Amino acid sequence: MNNKNEVEIPTELLPKDGRFGSGPSKVRPKAVEDLNKVSRSFLGTSHRRPGVKDVVGQIRSGLGQLLNLPNDYEIILGNGGASLIWDAAVFDLIESKSQHLSFGEFSSKFAKIVKDCPHLKDPQIIASDPGSHPQAVVADDVDLYAFTQNETSTGVCMQIQRPEATDALVTVDATSAAGGMMVDPSQFDLYYFSPQKCFGSDGGLWLGAASPRAINRIEELSSKRWVPPMLDLKMALDNSRLNQTYNTPALATLFLLNDQIQWMLKNGGLSWAAKRSQKSSNIIYDWAESQNFASPFVQDKDKRSPVVATIDFNDEISASDVSKILRANGILDTESYRKLGRNQIRIATFPTTDPEDIEALTACIDYVVSAIS
Ligand SMILES: *Cc1c(COP(=O)(O)O)cnc(C)c1O
Repeated sequence: MNNKNEVEIPTELLPKDGRFGSGPSKVRPKAVEDLNKVSRSFLGTSHRRPGVKDVVGQIRSGLGQLLNLPNDYEIILGNGGASLIWDAAVFDLIESKSQHLSFGEFSSKFAKIVKDCPHLKDPQIIASDPGSHPQAVVADDVDLYAFTQNETSTGVCMQIQRPEATDALVTVDATSAAGGMMVDPSQFDLYYFSPQKCFGSDGGLWLGAASPRAINRIEELSSKRWVPPMLDLKMALDNSRLNQTYNTPALATLFLLNDQIQWMLKNGGLSWAAKRSQKSSNIIYDWAESQNFASPFVQDKDKRSPVVATIDFNDEISASDVSKILRANGILDTESYRKLGRNQIRIATFPTTDPEDIEALTACIDYVVSAIS
């Protein structure tokens, strides 16, 4: 048996790019080159002037095109990341009671924030064990449904479908799904995300595609409730319409996000990006099913995420040892979600990643496993 710190993966097996993390995720080197080209004309310039506002405008219209949004939907954005939407929701989105599908770290966090909020009714929380997801239940007293298209902590995805006969808002945490999974805008009212996952940019920003119904709710609640300005989605809406943010955004993040949106549009849009992720994740799942030491964590194939693949290892192989060796060889962030506590690896298969690199990764894992077993 090899000392596990000394396993050296042959160079010819290595992927071209060793970043497989679920966020922050791989940033395309070409996007960084593009950013370097505007290092003196865009970076370090006012976000209230055309240079930056034009980029925000391109992000807003580009996302409208990418997500195939109806004309009356709007892209709103602000600082704070997707997590900020949960804090804002208790002021600007939930009238009195929400329903949450809770099936992992991120979806349960949102549910907890609402539960702890003194001015709202206790939310209806429908939970399932990690590795699956629960179904929404139509409820008359609920004015907002909180869904998560891809639970990044477990690699479980769900179909976004508006519950029947409801005029409640449907909000979707699409942080790791947006840009890598198809979605039908008629099925949601607010589809929110951050740029550091499928969009291969950096963190710190949130974006949301809002339906007229969501905009009405935001306007109504912000006019009758006190809202801290950073959490005021009406303020975010007003600024977004001017291609600005309420306070100063990270300009490099905006630039890289726009670069990625334009890259996706140029290559064929969301269906192209979603197919690329599907191809990559299929490589991982097929590989796991063919190996006796590995198996996909999510049993139901329809719930297996196309953008974040979680793979269990059997007791003989320590997933954390494998991830550690991969890391020492420049293959980064294959560790499972820290709080899930399984003998598992987690691989992001966002559109940025070349499916060939996913293929190479599986060969590297095979090499490491045979070296240590
Ligand atoms: C990453 C992630 C978040 C948190 O995003 P931040 O930008 O860190 O606020 C929320 N939900 C899901 C599903 C995520 O993957």
